[in-house]
Order: sequence, then C-alpha cells, then structure tokens
Amino acid sequence: MEYPTKRSYDVIIAGAGPAGSTLGYELARMGISVLILEKERLPRYKPCAGGITVKAANMLGLDISAVTRSVVHGARVTYRKNKAFTKWYDQPLIYTVMRDEFDHLLVRRSQEAGATVIDNEAVCRIETTADAVRVMTTKNALQAQILVGADGARSTVAGHAGLMQKTYLGMGLEAETSVAGEKLVQWDSLMGLDLGHIRGGYGWVFPKKDHLSVGAGGPLRQVRRLRSGYRAVLKSYDLGSGSVSRMRSHYLPVRRKGMAIQSKRCLLLGDAAGLVDPLTGEGIHNAIKSAQIAAPIIDQCLRANILDLRDYQDAVDRELMPELRAARAFARLFTWFPRLCFTLVERNDRLWRACCRLLRGEETYVTIKRRLDPLEGLFDLLTV
Ligand SMILES: Cc1cc2nc3c(=O)[nH]c(=O)nc-3n(C[C@H](O)[C@H](O)[C@H](O)COP(=O)(O)OP(=O)(O)OC[C@H]3O[C@@H](n4cnc5c(N)ncnc54)[C@H](O)[C@@H]3O)c2cc1C
Repeated sequence: MEYPTKRSYDVIIAGAGPAGSTLGYELARMGISVLILEKERLPRYKPCAGGITVKAANMLGLDISAVTRSVVHGARVTYRKNKAFTKWYDQPLIYTVMRDEFDHLLVRRSQEAGATVIDNEAVCRIETTADAVRVMTTKNALQAQILVGADGARSTVAGHAGLMQKTYLGMGLEAETSVAGEKLVQWDSLMGLDLGHIRGGYGWVFPKKDHLSVGAGGPLRQVRRLRSGYRAVLKSYDLGSGSVSRMRSHYLPVRRKGMAIQSKRCLLLGDAAGLVDPLTGEGIHNAIKSAQIAAPIIDQCLRANILDLRDYQDAVDRELMPELRAARAFARLFTWFPRLCFTLVERNDRLWRACCRLLRGEETYVTIKRRLDPLEGLFDLLTV
C-alpha cells in the first residue's frame, strides 16, 4: 500500500471494521475526502462468531455471497445439557462469515468508492482546535475537519474526546474449532444456542463450512464463568474432541441513552458508541446502521461549514436506542428466567417464528413488546 502524501482530510476515521468501512464508503460516494486508519495489518482476524443477521446483510446493499461460509436456517437450542430442541425456518436467518474476509470486502468497497485506507497505523492522540482536529498516529501527524471513532470497544478516540465514559460492558469468548467431517455435516445450516450455564449470557456454535466457531458470552460480572461456559458448550454438543485454535475474548459495550457519543469535532460509531444488542451480543447491524445515520449528517455539517454533530446523537437516540432499551428488558427476563424462556420458545411456534423474524428484520423488539400489551408497562420497568 503506497503511503499518500496528503496530510489533511475532511474526515478521518479510526478503525476499518464494519462501522468505519461503511462510513468511509458512504462519505467517499458523496465526494468527501476521507481517510480510514486501521491499527492492524489488513485483512485482520477478529474474535467474533461471525453471524451476519439477514437484517444486517440487507442494510449493506452488497452481495456477500463470496465471503459467506454458511446460511443458517435453524437452531439447536440446549438448556444445561439435559434439555434440547431443534427448530427450522423456511428462510435464511443468519449468514456466517470469517470476519477478516467480510471486513476486508467492506474495506475494498470503500476504497473503490474513493476512500483512502492506511493499515498498520493507529490513532494515538487527538487535539481539537478551533478550526480542525489534529490526529497523531503511530507514524504521522494528520488533520481533519471531523474525526470519527470507529475503533471498537476500547476506543482511543472516545477516551481522548471524553466520550462514552461509563459503558456497561459484556464479554465474549470465541474459538475456531475443527471437528471430524461427519460432525461438521450435522451443523450444516444450523446454529447452536446453549442456555443456562452463564447467568444472563449464552453459548453458541456457528457453522463456518470447514470448521465451527464456538463461544460463550455474557455480562462482565460473569467473566470468570466464560471459560467454563465455553467448555459446557463443547460438552452439550459433544464437540470436546475437536482441535481448538485462536481462543480469544473481547468486550461487548452497551450504551445507555444520553451517554455522549459526539463532541464538537468527534463522533463515535458501532462498538465505540456502545451499540451492541444487550440480549444477543449482535453488534454488526448497529455498526453499519450508525455509519449510515452519521454519513448525511457529516455531509450536511461540512457543506454548511457549521460543526454541530448533536444531530447525530439525537438520531441515534431516536432510531437505535428504543430498540436497545427494549432488548435490555428482554435480556433481564432472560437473565432471571432462562429456563422459562427456553420452554416458551420450545413449546410456542409463534414465538419461535417471532424470533426468526427479529433476526430477519421483519420484526423488532419494540413491536414484540407492544404485542405483549397489557404487560408492556411492566416491561418498561425492566429497562430502568
Ligand atoms: C466473541 C464475540 C462474538 C461476536 N459475535 C458477533 C456476531 O456473531 N454477530 C454480530 O453482529 N456481532 C458479533 N459480535 C460483536 C461484533 O464483533 C462487534 O459489534 C462489531 O465488530 C463492531 O464493529 P465496529 O466496526 O464498531 O468495531 P470493530 O469491528 O471492533 O472494528 C474496530 C477496528 O478499529 C481498529 N482500531 C482499534 N483501535 C484503533 C486505533 N487506535 N487506531 C486505528 N484503528 C484502531 C481495530 O483494529 C478494528 O479493526 C461479537 C463480539 C464478540 C466479542
């Protein structure tokens, strides 16, 4: 990658994950000069189950079949090893990917649209002045009108800009697991969800064509149980004999409404803004969505030469937070009554189909909650 001589951009984005690359693509298409800085060498490995829900994939406006490992149509759900059911849906629920391949596809799209991408260079420090933001990297001093933190759960930009100070964090542990061919075939089109081992969390098995991604996640207070939760998943699905590689853990940040995700010349996207779903741990959908919300607002600010990014935070509060708030209520129910949740979905096909429509974006937490009327008010108490 040839290093550009240009030192000043309209927008610099820290991080080339789904949030940063989507924003880079959207801004470049609008003719805005944009630089994406990524601290790792690309393509980079990322600990992730790699589940792209249909609702997330639909938002991209991009064919991801070249990087899709498996198309999931059903789930094998277990509760503490001794209870299990398998249910199918007649349409795709989730596409599984390896994140290095998926994220790199998005990076290439942003480059094709005109974004400049520099890898192996991290944002270290920022200084905001009256007319610009100075961005000090591991190699250079650069300058932009606006700096975007799309740099993940432990965002350097958020830290330096004094944003997202009290994030509620969860954590996920993930490993790539190779198993014998006949075991792999059993998981074709099927994901595993293992309940009851981690309070407020769950374990998973996602098929990746030539191997399985196996992991466990939950609230940070359960972090000591993640390893045993992970081993329980292997046991529940009889995968203990598989060979395990790349076992890593990573934070899952969750924002509360009102937490600052913008200041005069900075804004945060995706994980940096704490937009992970508190029930499922899904973060890619909101990483993409937050980028798509930010792009026209940044464009407007640059055109009008009036830097006021509050519209971005307002739009996130309006468009994303009601859904995350409702998800938090469901997450509470799940934390307190995991066995009941298991039994309800096992016995009630309408509920199973509602969960499937949720993954497909044809239903939202808010619409499901509304249908629980007259219990809706009670539900609202769970989000306090
Ligand atoms: C174990 C686990 C499993 C998960 N499974 C799923 C799943 O199946 N489906 C789903 O939707 N979500 C899942 N998630 C959540 C998902 O991984 C994140 O929500 C998603 O990656 C957020 O995208 P992002 O672009 O905001 O951040 P990231 O994808 O984290 O990208 C941030 C980028 O910024 C770079 N960076 C960091 N610091 C700097 C810096 N100072 N300068 C420059 N670059 C920097 C990083 O190297 C990284 O490439 C999972 C998370 C975990 C931990």
